[in-house]
Order: sequence, then structure tokens, then C-alpha cells
Amino acid sequence: MALVLYHKNHPDEQYQYVHVRLNEVYSFIEYRLQDPHHTHMNFIARDVKTGLEKTFFAELCMCNDVDDGNSGYVTTACEIVDGNSSGGLRIKGVFPDGKFLPDYYDGENCYACAERIKHPPGAGYRAGHDVLGYGVGEEESLVE
Ligand SMILES: [Zn+2]
Repeated sequence: MALVLYHKNHPDEQYQYVHVRLNEVYSFIEYRLQDPHHTHMNFIARDVKTGLEKTFFAELCMCNDVDDGNSGYVTTACEIVDGNSSGGLRIKGVFPDGKFLPDYYDGENCYACAERIKHPPGAGYRAGHDVLGYGVGEEESLVE
């Protein structure tokens, strides 16, 4: 479903979903937002024209009624990422210049995910920017 948003933003491209690995999914609570339940994930999709597989980042927000057919999830971001994209900073616990940012908010990075989750530039998604981090362990049930 995240690809629907991607195709809307990139009408010249056509990708077909291939798979997602369970340990590339992070669910967390973003207290700064009105609808706090967010999921970040990487998944693989194939370019229908070239056959090349690309890694995508998607951010889902559980904003709607859970009975709406998508379990209440709405896609709030979907972008192609690669090995050079920024990983999550959850485990690293490092901050730019080694100090906390004003309001403990870093618009460029995600502090909810582990480094293996690749993210587009920070403005491309809306949750995960709180440098104080997120509830520890709640995502473990999603890691095989
Ligand atoms: Zn993240």
C-alpha cells in the first residue's frame, strides 16, 4: 500500500512490491504527534520497466479506524533509499556535534530505528526525530 503514495508522487515510475523482511520493521510511539503510532520499514520492490530491484523506505501511521481494511494504517512517506542513506540512530545514541539539539528534535535523523533501517532525508518523513529516543523493547516482538 505504501507504493500507492510513491506512484502518486512519481507518476512516471512503476514499481511492484517484492518483499519485506520482518527485522526491517520498527513500530514506535511518536508522542509529539496527534496520532502517535508509527511504523518505519524497508521493503523491496521491482521496477516494472527495467526489472531492477530497489529498497524503499515507508512510514505508516495508524491514524484511521482499525476496521478500514488497512488495519487503520495510512502511508505518510514512501521513498527509494540505498546503502548510502542514513540509518536509524537508535542504538548509536549519538547526536550531531555530541550535544542535544534545541527542543531535543533532530529533523534530519530517526532515533526510533536501528541503523539497518535506511531513511530518506529527514524532511521526507515525520516521526522518529525525537533525540531522547523511544520506548525500548516494544519492537522486539516484530524481530523474528
Ligand atoms: Zn525510523
